[in-house]
Amino acid sequence: MSNQVLIVDKNTMKKMQAYYEPSSTGKIPPGGVFAAKTSGCSITGYKSGKVLFQGRDASNEAGKWGSVNNVSPKAKSTTSVKKKTSLPSNFANLSVIGSDEVGTGDFFGPITVCAAYVRQEDMDILKHAGVKDSKALTDEKIIEIAREIIPFVPYSLLVLHNEKYNKMQQTGMTQGKMKALLHNKALENVLNKISPEKPDAILIDQFAEENVYYRHLTGQKTIVKENVYFQTKAEGLHLSVAAASIIARYAFLKEMDKLSELAQLTIPKGAGAIVDQAAAKVIKKHGESMLWQLAKIHFANSEKAKRLARK
Ligand code: MN
Repeated sequence: MSNQVLIVDKNTMKKMQAYYEPSSTGKIPPGGVFAAKTSGCSITGYKSGKVLFQGRDASNEAGKWGSVNNVSPKAKSTTSVKKKTSLPSNFANLSVIGSDEVGTGDFFGPITVCAAYVRQEDMDILKHAGVKDSKALTDEKIIEIAREIIPFVPYSLLVLHNEKYNKMQQTGMTQGKMKALLHNKALENVLNKISPEKPDAILIDQFAEENVYYRHLTGQKTIVKENVYFQTKAEGLHLSVAAASIIARYAFLKEMDKLSELAQLTIPKGAGAIVDQAAAKVIKKHGESMLWQLAKIHFANSEKAKRLARK
């Protein structure tokens, strides 16, 4: 659990409020402007100009907006607690389709979303292969496990490449909406794959409130809604989400390798200072336009990299 705090101007605060609107918790604390929760981070903006990021993705999330400072621990008490809708009993042992995404907080690289179906009878073999919360696994281990489970786990993997991502983002689409569309599509694909079999339930690693998620899907031909549950930290609640997360992470790593080859330098993960420096190198080597193919250009890293490249 890490905390980050940014002090931003009014303009940035407005931008942030709009950006996080799809993930809004609707529970704004006293003195607050907005409160949002993504899958890995709670974000709270205050009238004072302070923005607090809390959770495992705090550094990445804060890195999208500026340079970060550590926050005093007492600020913790300002987070709003989200209510949990309860899962069916014995959930971990049901046959479930789980979905998760990777890459949303990384400046470089695509967003990868995976939905995977894990039947009760496949759980032992998955556990044996080492499937667990992917955050506790090294990249090497992720690759090894993914290769082992991919042949027999029914799954759908979607990769939103940077060019398409940037186009969608520039039309005004939020990351929350992109994620909702991708999760919904991946779930639909897996349901089709396993048909006529049906899962006992579907579990989405939560990145938005349920009503916001479905609002994003308005107008879609197929909206997967039956037996769908949303939980944060869902990787720990069912092996299907853990498996989906591992496959999504594996795909992300492979894509990053391709981008490194394209840029002829090692492309780092995250959104911190190392990323700014790598992006500056890309600009110097290939020009600014290259970022369009490699990165989520609306992140604050773009401007920082341009400044670095001019030095
Ligand atoms: Mn997630």
